[in-house]
Amino acid sequence: MKDTGSAMVEFMADLYPICRSITGNGVRETLHKVNEILPIEIVEVPTGELVFDWEIPREWNITDGYIKDPGGNKILDFKKLNLHVLNYSMPVSGHFSLEELKKHIHTIPEKPDLVPYRTSYYKENWGFCMSHNQFRTLEEGEYEVLIDSSLTSGSLTYGEVLIEGKIREEILISTHICHPSLCNDNLSGIAVSAFLGNMLKSREPHYSYRFIFIPGTIGAITWLSQNESKLGRIRCGIVTALLGLGERFTYKRTRSGDGYIDKVFEFILKKEGVLHDIIDFTPYGYDERQFSSPGINLPVGSLSRIPYGQYHEYHTSGDNMDLISGKALTESFDILDKVIAHLDADRRYLNLSPKGEPQLGKRGLYDNVGGRNDSQLFQMALLWVLNFSDGNHSLTDIAIRSDIAIELIIEASEKLAEKGLLKLLN
Ligand code: ZN
Repeated sequence: MKDTGSAMVEFMADLYPICRSITGNGVRETLHKVNEILPIEIVEVPTGELVFDWEIPREWNITDGYIKDPGGNKILDFKKLNLHVLNYSMPVSGHFSLEELKKHIHTIPEKPDLVPYRTSYYKENWGFCMSHNQFRTLEEGEYEVLIDSSLTSGSLTYGEVLIEGKIREEILISTHICHPSLCNDNLSGIAVSAFLGNMLKSREPHYSYRFIFIPGTIGAITWLSQNESKLGRIRCGIVTALLGLGERFTYKRTRSGDGYIDKVFEFILKKEGVLHDIIDFTPYGYDERQFSSPGINLPVGSLSRIPYGQYHEYHTSGDNMDLISGKALTESFDILDKVIAHLDADRRYLNLSPKGEPQLGKRGLYDNVGGRNDSQLFQMALLWVLNFSDGNHSLTDIAIRSDIAIELIIEASEKLAEKGLLKLLN
């Protein structure tokens, strides 16, 4: 059987060639592939629909794009790399002088060997992206240009699934899905989220978990606008992005900075001994900024490794599969898995024998302890759970305070409840 890291890499390699955008068939195809890992509902919201202060744009699709030099040689080909066409470019077909054509070519002179990723969602324009090295070789003459794209009334597409837990309260996990052939930003987030959802499905979680796969900004705004009535059920959320590259983790706190999820992330990143930075909320970055807008104000934090914009290949052709390691993806997956395990233990018990320690021996709880390798630790877990099951502390709080594995704290609470020493409050 394949390990999760290799499976995620393989999944990303499969998604890599697809030309995604904020709308269009690339998004649909991506969601169909996500659906093979984690069954999701695919939702279409029609062009023109108002979503808060925005409007669903026309749908963009593209089949081809190229530039031919004066000698008739194809010097740039969308079919080889979809970043070569400005994302959301208007269609164009014709012959242009070099001077005219240059007005429509984007490069990054400081990174001359990389092709930039550029978009023009809300301004009608056409254009190409190429390496600055190639740009400098262009000779005078007439160039043949084609962009076979369409902007038509259609829809914006997103994917969503609710993995039902024991309670209706939800934890939200959100990932953007709008970047074309770019790996760390954003295929790594899609892969880790899809595989996390797949894993959660086989568990019986306490909370319900809602995974959403949405185009950045407009998709988050659309989802929020369409699901406003459900927002009250969301306990907290995580935006996942940039999880396949780098040694360090970066956790960006929720807007208030002192949420339940902030406490859990800070604890896990420290406990796991991984290099990490914890940064405060800013109204910039990924879709945490939409979830944290003042009229929504959900406690949503964000996990990345190297933050956006801070690696050389960011938003360029260099952000390809060569950059991604299965190891980095697996570490990211494992951190989120542990965070989820702790978030999910957010339930409180009441000690029904709170005056003095209850006698564990006569209830057979020491027998329970005796035969195990971790008997001392399990006994400590029993004592911690008894002491802090005062109605104010959740199992998560107890795990954090005692630094005992959450699985052991849960097991201790279940044993104590079985013996009638604890009552579940929520
Ligand atoms: Zn991006």
